[in-house]
Amino acid sequence: MRNKTVLISGASIAGPALAYWLRRRGFVPTVVETAPALRPGGHAVDLRGAAKEVVERMGLMETVRAARVHERGLAYVDAKGRLQAQLPADAFGGEGIVAEIEIMRGDLTAILYEATKDDVEYIFGDRITELAEHSDGVKVTFAGGAVRDFDLVVGADGVHSGVRRLAFGPEERFVEYIGGYTAYFTMPDPGVLDEWFVMHSAPGGITAGIRPENGGTAKAMLSFLSPKLDYDRRDVAAQRAILREKFAPMGWKAPQMLAGMDGAEDFYFDSFCQVHMDTYARGRVVLLGDAAFCGSPLVGLGTAMAIVGAYVLAGELAATPDDHAGAFARYEAELRPYVKQCQELPPGGVKGFAPESSLMIRMRNLSMNSMTKWPMRLFFAKLFQKADAITLKNY
Ligand SMILES: Cc1cc2nc3c(=O)[nH]c(=O)nc-3n(C[C@H](O)[C@H](O)[C@H](O)COP(=O)(O)OP(=O)(O)OC[C@H]3O[C@@H](n4cnc5c(N)ncnc54)[C@H](O)[C@@H]3O)c2cc1C
Repeated sequence: MRNKTVLISGASIAGPALAYWLRRRGFVPTVVETAPALRPGGHAVDLRGAAKEVVERMGLMETVRAARVHERGLAYVDAKGRLQAQLPADAFGGEGIVAEIEIMRGDLTAILYEATKDDVEYIFGDRITELAEHSDGVKVTFAGGAVRDFDLVVGADGVHSGVRRLAFGPEERFVEYIGGYTAYFTMPDPGVLDEWFVMHSAPGGITAGIRPENGGTAKAMLSFLSPKLDYDRRDVAAQRAILREKFAPMGWKAPQMLAGMDGAEDFYFDSFCQVHMDTYARGRVVLLGDAAFCGSPLVGLGTAMAIVGAYVLAGELAATPDDHAGAFARYEAELRPYVKQCQELPPGGVKGFAPESSLMIRMRNLSMNSMTKWPMRLFFAKLFQKADAITLKNY
């Protein structure tokens, strides 16, 4: 096998999932992660359709099921906490807005890491600074000073991918801002959730949500509509200040959430955006997951796409290990139609999620209450079928 060593940038979902499949198919993957350790945090991510099948094929479904979040569904309340709309988890057979298998992103990352760490080299606290492709490999320079040669390089380093910048060009060419921001962090359980993911929207396009997790804490979410903001992605204090200004007038549980935010070690803030690439590969470098096809948390399928993509990329590479160009082309051809469907935003886009006025909030609630009823049920059932829009090959 000529293309045996594969450097993967990013150890969240796509990176470890790819490392798993590459190892199983006889490759030698190395994963480099810029954070000093696995990054905790994030809300529950959904495993739907084909992604569930991939996790089954990895033999990890039992572990995932044991760690999944027990949620009765999604409930919208008014400023006084009175129920306005709800969607039970078992609506749409567990494949609705709330999926049957929802697991905290950090827990899924840990499961994938545990399944690979014994026979995959992980390098934490480092990142790639230079890629120089030559006739039979890529010379990689790391921020820590090391210089190593790999046969192939994969960018699985998320929406702000460093590999994509080095191999394809600046982020602005590929990342499309879709009109808002969201923050996630862990806070003390406010004691009002009763196993529901409870959300509240207020006029001005601000939506807050708190969902239960296993063990006395809860996951907070603060999202708002906004023109594109100019802020430093590394300046967490500035991001917290933006949220304080937006949510201080909100009422409901916002004061408790803002207080919880200050103590949270897993604070995460980013824009709602999508990544669109004309091609996923350039030479010996290929992109996977959010780096290649981020859909934004609004579509709820980022993790599914990353897991399915990892399976397909490893499978195609194993099919022609000496012809990476052919494998990358087939990976892209297999994935594109699925990605296209998964990236379709839900009705109303970001404004459907964080409605601007009292009227729009009422309409959103009405639409949620009608989702499970005929004839709307048929329309919404179709929306949730995108996660199945790929037939997995048996590589
Ligand atoms: C902390 C965190 C919380 C998240 N929370 C949610 C959520 O609540 N809901 C949701 O829908 N999606 C969330 N996401 C995004 C979600 O994980 C992805 O949409 C999806 O799972 C695909 O994952 P990915 O592995 O492609 O990218 P990501 O999950 O974004 O992971 C990218 C990884 O690459 C690392 N990285 C970044 N730059 C470099 C670099 N230059 N060199 C090396 N490593 C690098 C990052 O630290 C990260 O570990 C979150 C992502 C992160 C990192």
